[in-house]
Amino acid sequence: MNSISVRDKRTDPALRHPEKRNRPDNPIQRKPDWIRVKAPTSKAYHETRKMMRDLNLATVCEEAACPNIGECWAKKHATIMIMGDTCTRACAFCNVATGVPKPLDPKEPANVAVAVGSMALEHVVLTSVDRDDLDDGGADHFGQVVRALRASAPATTIEILTPDFKDKPGAIDIMAADPPDVFNHNLETVPRLYPTIRPGSRYFTSLDLLRRIKERVPSVFTKSGLMVGLGETREEVGQVMDDLRAADVDFLTIGQYLQPTPKHARIDKFVSPKEFEGYGKMARGKGFLHVSATPLTRSSYHAGDDFVKLRAAREAKLAVAD
Ligand code: SF4
Repeated sequence: MNSISVRDKRTDPALRHPEKRNRPDNPIQRKPDWIRVKAPTSKAYHETRKMMRDLNLATVCEEAACPNIGECWAKKHATIMIMGDTCTRACAFCNVATGVPKPLDPKEPANVAVAVGSMALEHVVLTSVDRDDLDDGGADHFGQVVRALRASAPATTIEILTPDFKDKPGAIDIMAADPPDVFNHNLETVPRLYPTIRPGSRYFTSLDLLRRIKERVPSVFTKSGLMVGLGETREEVGQVMDDLRAADVDFLTIGQYLQPTPKHARIDKFVSPKEFEGYGKMARGKGFLHVSATPLTRSSYHAGDDFVKLRAAREAKLAVAD
């Protein structure tokens, strides 16, 4: 058999990341004990996997090689990645494949609604690849998915984790017309590291997106996330927190960056659980309504439970203000 014919884009780094082929190898470092997770084996994990395949849906859990997949899928909590599995950007930390994406699937909004209905989710997280090839960056498609979910599962709360919509005038208006319950956009790292870690993105574009969405839809919870261990300093992380609070962002997640393949950015440091506690304390002191800061924190990790806490924190704050 021709070996090329059995290569799989999901698992073959050379096929997933052709644009990274010429980068030097960064050997993968051994993880400390506090990062180890069990291999996924549960029945619910396999059922979730089969359903996503049957409905032709991608998940960021698989595409980003998330370490929490065993735990999350065992609870039938998955983050659905809409608009395909191929991204138009090539961030140095991200395991999602880069290339020319396929056209949008018009059946996707309905298929997402079926998947969410089958999993009987109280809270769903949807994300997407960057679609710089589309005039609106995919904003209208996000709106269609939100509308399909509101119609089919009105009791389910919706969280979306979006691209930055850089150079897509009008995208914010489209997004604001069908708002989710939680609008998440990750800054990912400190501004000094953008040229190497997020070269296709701009720190202030991302910050501005969060600020403008909150201005348009004050009832929406805004959320952002940072990876640490990429070479940032504690002072730089504190400055990003201040910038996010100035943009009225409610919820901050901070987790350890993990290097997916030797072609990705190297880990500068495994941040200790104690340092994460310190970041959590610092963020709460700066006034975020909710903070999750642990080595395995990811944007969508425990998102349903965190949404309940977020809503309770806002209610408590409003009660004090009355
Ligand atoms: S943390 Fe998020 S991306 Fe990772 S497995 Fe859980 S739901 Fe998926």
